[in-house]
Amino acid sequence: MNPIHIAIVGVGKIVRDQHLPAIAGNADYRLIAAASRHGIVDGIDNFKSIEAMLEAVPAIDAVSLCMPPQFRYQAARVALEAGKHVFLEKPPGATLSEVADLESLASANGLSLFASWHSRYAPAVEAARRFLASTRINAVQVIWKEDVRHWHPNQDWIWQAGGLGVFDPGINALSIVTHILPNPLFITEATLEFPENRDAPIAAAIRFSDAHALPVTADFDWRQTGHQSWDIIAETDAGRMVLSEGGAKLSIDGKLVHDEPEREYPALYARFAEIIKTKQSDVDLAPLRHVADAFMLGRRKFVDAFID
Ligand code: NAP
Repeated sequence: MNPIHIAIVGVGKIVRDQHLPAIAGNADYRLIAAASRHGIVDGIDNFKSIEAMLEAVPAIDAVSLCMPPQFRYQAARVALEAGKHVFLEKPPGATLSEVADLESLASANGLSLFASWHSRYAPAVEAARRFLASTRINAVQVIWKEDVRHWHPNQDWIWQAGGLGVFDPGINALSIVTHILPNPLFITEATLEFPENRDAPIAAAIRFSDAHALPVTADFDWRQTGHQSWDIIAETDAGRMVLSEGGAKLSIDGKLVHDEPEREYPALYARFAEIIKTKQSDVDLAPLRHVADAFMLGRRKFVDAFID
């Protein structure tokens, strides 16, 4: 089969760190163009806007949209109307309704839409899902605490409305939790802490339940210096499961049972090629729905201003 001619839109940190190497390492793709107001990808045609790129390069089959979520819908609509398959970075959009609209448009035009959740492809996530399916789960605790100054320096969009604040990393935890737990969750209580000078939260404490009253808590905090925590802990009848380092490692009762090298983005691009070949879309909005619910149900607490 001919390679998928792909283009990248919004050339920033994640494109350089992950998308370019993942595409280069997959023979199903040929990267032929990029569109970004300032960013450039060496060795291919570069354009200032997606509209100019699609007009100039009709051979494009698919686009990866890697700009901040507040600006993704318009680009996705333009691409789908031009007959291109679309890969959406996470979170897939700034609202649930806009992503539902894109899903309908992709379906009406016979195109593939991929709402990518990279953390679901972390190496130990499938092993965690299998373990939890094999036992009774009694409680779950999610601890996602990192230093925003280290991971998101000077990213203004992340603090603006629609940028999600601490839910930008927190939604990665939610994408794993919604994949590995056997039953759907819902939020029963949440407290969101907003710096007094920002439109997005710096911390969130959330309680969830499910149809069987499973207690699940999530603590997201961007003020963590030193050790960084990306852990999901489940107390089960078969022991204490710890899925750590963002889904990279799995241990049961302190014994490491799964530890493989990280390859999230190569797996995402393999999945995108698969759904294009099989003429499907892959759009699971559960992680984004929980974020929307936290904003809807959560108490707001104002805390000290955050200066980058
Ligand atoms: P980033 O570097 O700040 O932004 C990506 C690029 O988007 C920018 O360089 C910019 O390029 C373009 N952009 C910025 N504002 C725009 C606007 N108003 N309209 C159109 N394009 C705009 O951010 P990032 O860290 O790569 O994150 C981008 C997305 O990837 C986010 O949704 C994030 O959650 C996700 N992600 C990030 C990471 C990570 O580790 N950073 C990991 C996984 C997923 P131009 O100025 O050239 O247009």
